[in-house]
Amino acid sequence: MRQVTTHSPEETKAFAAELAAHATPGQIICLDGDLGAGKTVFAQGFAEGLGVPGYVNSPTFTILQVYEGGRLPLYHFDVYRIGDPEEMDEIGWEEYFFGEGVCLIEWSQLIEELIPETAVHVTIEKSREVFDDRLITVE
Ligand code: ADP
Ligand code: MG
Repeated sequence: MRQVTTHSPEETKAFAAELAAHATPGQIICLDGDLGAGKTVFAQGFAEGLGVPGYVNSPTFTILQVYEGGRLPLYHFDVYRIGDPEEMDEIGWEEYFFGEGVCLIEWSQLIEELIPETAVHVTIEKSREVFDDRLITVE
């Protein structure tokens, strides 16, 4: 387990970019934390670390956004609005989970039954004292 406290969105991005530098094909990274914790900010930094061109935003209305052009393909899931795990079947989740790229999954706890044991879990928590502080735990 590894824990860091970041004090700004930039620091969260830099931390994510560092993880991205060590990312390997087929890696699954679950991003959990409340609304506004910084999951999408983390994803942006991770994408930058992979050298993905263009801006990464939350794929809230599509569940999945695929980014090519970096060191590895990035499969960015946000399953917040998923109503039924069958929606994951419709997008063909296995192709991505067991593919050549890296999966980042915001709100992964909503599809817990699909998450492999080998997944990395990143939890982002807002500080109660300092507005911009975030405790990031990697397990
Ligand atoms: P989520 O995807 O978890 O719902 P977002 O990443 O969309 O959250 O939003 C996080 C918000 O918190 C952004 O407005 C960002 O600027 C702000 N923020 C403030 N401090 C931090 C920090 N240390 N790390 C990440 N985001 C931060
Ligand atoms: Mg988000």
